[in-house]
Amino acid sequence: MSGNELREAYLQFFSEKKGHLRLPSFSLIPQDDPTLLLIGAGMAPLKPFFTGKMKPPRTRVTTSQRCVRTGDIENVGRTARHQTFFEMLGNFSFGDYFKGEAIPWAWEFLTEVIELPKDKLWVTVYPDDTEAIEIWKSQPGFPQDHIVKMEDNFWEIGPGPCGPDSEIYIDLGEERGCGSPTCAVGCDCDRYLEIWNLVFTQYDRQEDGSYKNLAHKNIDTGCGLERLASVVQNKKTNFETDLLYPIIEYAAKVAGVEYGKDEKTDISLKVIADHARSMAVMIMDGILPSNEGRGYVLRRILRRAIRHGRMLGIKGKFLEGAVDAVVEIYRDASDFGELIAKHDYIKKVISIEEDRFAATLNQGMELLDAEIKSLKADGKDELPGEVGFRLYDTFGFPWELTEEILHENGLDLDKEGFDKAMDEQRERARSARAENQRVAVPDLSGIDVSKLKVDPEAKEAKVVAIWKD
Ligand code: ATP
Ligand code: MG
Ligand code: MG
Ligand code: MG
Repeated sequence: MSGNELREAYLQFFSEKKGHLRLPSFSLIPQDDPTLLLIGAGMAPLKPFFTGKMKPPRTRVTTSQRCVRTGDIENVGRTARHQTFFEMLGNFSFGDYFKGEAIPWAWEFLTEVIELPKDKLWVTVYPDDTEAIEIWKSQPGFPQDHIVKMEDNFWEIGPGPCGPDSEIYIDLGEERGCGSPTCAVGCDCDRYLEIWNLVFTQYDRQEDGSYKNLAHKNIDTGCGLERLASVVQNKKTNFETDLLYPIIEYAAKVAGVEYGKDEKTDISLKVIADHARSMAVMIMDGILPSNEGRGYVLRRILRRAIRHGRMLGIKGKFLEGAVDAVVEIYRDASDFGELIAKHDYIKKVISIEEDRFAATLNQGMELLDAEIKSLKADGKDELPGEVGFRLYDTFGFPWELTEEILHENGLDLDKEGFDKAMDEQRERARSARAENQRVAVPDLSGIDVSKLKVDPEAKEAKVVAIWKD
């Protein structure tokens, strides 16, 4: 089963067999939610339906939500299961069905539709959730001792709707484990792979910390498409599935390296594959590289990918070709029509950013390498904040990138010093009344993007004109 078929199987199962309304993925840019930079879960754009602020179009909804989690950026390539960009399949109930349906349907989908082996599946539950335990145990063929009680299985953020959750794992075999005698479900190694999280929102946490029963109980589930694909396609990592591997193949070819021979090389290939998908989809959703907010996340991801290209020995520009590979992956996927429509535009934006960073990357790396050598020679373990700031300001190194390179060398960045240098520069800029060149995120909805022009000379990648017919 291809990744695209898997997405389709899930959405069809919940819409055609279980009465859910199938909605397209929401944008990565949250609407009316200033607390959030980027959508990182299927339930995030549906929050108003959960809180009752808005009436849902139907009480049962299913989506494949595009997600970005920058919090997982350093895991990319190091674990088998984390990307910054992934799709979260989900089925949701707004005061409609509850545990008695959510659990059997998850079991049915996994064991009957995609036919995962029942004896390899495990679940975790909240210790007090006897209701969920009983329901799990009554599923056909459920391995009775594959339930683990975990205190962590409770989902809440401050006062408001919250409740226990239950996670589904698959045992990929002892040979994939860390070998520790305590290795079990929940271990961070690759043996037990978390594939699906079912959240049972049944309480309303009060300001005083007590819990009341919710009048309308909700269901929120999240299942990683790439993880599911790795299981169904029998691949060791998400990166070897058809949702990512074509990008690895492309990058390996450009770099003249082979995948699967050397760990460090593989990490760089995986980073490029993941980051290429992230940047393409972020730009598709209207984000442009900049020095703040979402634009900065995009810039950081882009520049990180470029650096990993250099680490592989790629001398020239290579990201546009990676975007072509991304577009091919999603050509027949639902919800990615805009990716095809904005293909050229996305490449233009990336090409400008790649030119800009390529011009300074080598010089910056030389400076940083020299600093690292001298720190080591002096027995010091921290790069002064001003040097980190110079790398940022003159050479375009996102500070996180500098910090990461330092970490690879067992060193740290003086972040306080960096912030101070940054503040001082801001102050200078303010007093000089320098124009703060911010790039607004353009609203591209309803615009024919094939007609967008990007100014290649611009300091920031900014849309300058919309062609008129
Ligand atoms: P993990 O413990 O493996 O980091 P999680 O508990 O943080 O996962 P959830 O927040 O429960 O993940 O998200 C629901 C599902 O989304 C997960 O069960 C997984 O299938 C998928 N998922 C979460 N984070 C990622 C990621 N970074 N890359 C790919 N899939 C992910
Ligand atoms: Mg996580
Ligand atoms: Mg987890
Ligand atoms: Mg989880």
